Amino acid sequence: MRIYTCGPVAMYPEVASVRQDVSGYFRTPEYGTLVKHCLKELSAFIGNPVPQSMLYLACSGTGAMEAVVENCATPSDKALVINGGSFGLRFCELLGYHGIPFKSVKLRWNERLCEKHLSTFDNRGFSLLFVNLDETSTGQLYDLDLLSDFCERNGMLLIADVISAFLCDDFSMEKSGIDAAIFSSQKGLCCSPGCSFVSVSSRMKEKILNSKSAPATRYFDFKDYFTNLTRGQTPYTPPVMVMYEVEAMLRRVSLSGGFNAWINRIADKARAFRQSVTEAGYQIPDYPLSNMLTPVCLNGTDACDIARDLKEYGFLVSPCGGDLSKRIFRVCHLGNTSPEDDQMLIDALYDIRQKRIKK
Ligand SMILES: *Cc1c(COP(=O)(O)O)cnc(C)c1O
Repeated sequence: MRIYTCGPVAMYPEVASVRQDVSGYFRTPEYGTLVKHCLKELSAFIGNPVPQSMLYLACSGTGAMEAVVENCATPSDKALVINGGSFGLRFCELLGYHGIPFKSVKLRWNERLCEKHLSTFDNRGFSLLFVNLDETSTGQLYDLDLLSDFCERNGMLLIADVISAFLCDDFSMEKSGIDAAIFSSQKGLCCSPGCSFVSVSSRMKEKILNSKSAPATRYFDFKDYFTNLTRGQTPYTPPVMVMYEVEAMLRRVSLSGGFNAWINRIADKARAFRQSVTEAGYQIPDYPLSNMLTPVCLNGTDACDIARDLKEYGFLVSPCGGDLSKRIFRVCHLGNTSPEDDQMLIDALYDIRQKRIKK
């Protein structure tokens, strides 16, 4: 089976096999050094020059989203959420659950985020903006300049879930004034699931460390994580093996020309796929897309059916949930798939379309 799902993705062989050769024990100076090395490189990739500003947590991406809500927001904040799909909705649910006052910018399917959506919220006392830089349920890559301008002129902190944009779309926390960025091991990093990262600006780090009240979580109290971080450690047992995979992955990125070359290769892959899939008679949306995935739109055909057909050809893609399940399925461009695999996928899609038209 060839894996084109939106995370976990197909792992590279030397990353997948690294667990066989390492010990799982972690309270050692060697493991601490490994962690510091990985977090430093990841901080450079995400464009955050603040030292000791990246935490890592034993949970999937949603756990980190919730931990950020618990540690970075309080009931005296007023939050705005960009809600353009199921991940935006998830931020709304988490904020609601924790009693943080919020409003959301609700986007319809196929609606592109633009200035008019934000300007209605100018000068209304909002203190935090939550956004999923790539809304993975639709593949829309939001305009970061637009969002950071809005935050700057309103004195708001910008909290970005970059889970599916990290290591495939080009952005920098420092340049865009992102105050907290969340990502996980199983997407752009192409590792096993189980490890999530939170990178913070210096003002967000101060907000967390100076907070008088305890966060609504004991396990994910970021103050404890910052204290342990100075030794490259975590308060509790981390996903040790995943960190070794991250190290192997960072080596791979470096050997293939570094961060920019890596991102450019994924962008090329996405571009080539988008051209071929439209030539094969399918449509793609016209809002800006992340390099991570291509949503393929179906006219009248149930997208779930196509995803099922593809399985018989040996390809696993991501169908969508809810209302979108009939409209789109998603093809991911991350992970260990070759241009030859991509061509075979296109051939299969062409074949499926011909058969369905004949029916
Ligand atoms: C994958 C993803 C998540 C995290 O999902 P988990 O299943 O909890 O790892 C969160 N946000 C976005 C935008 C994602 O793509």
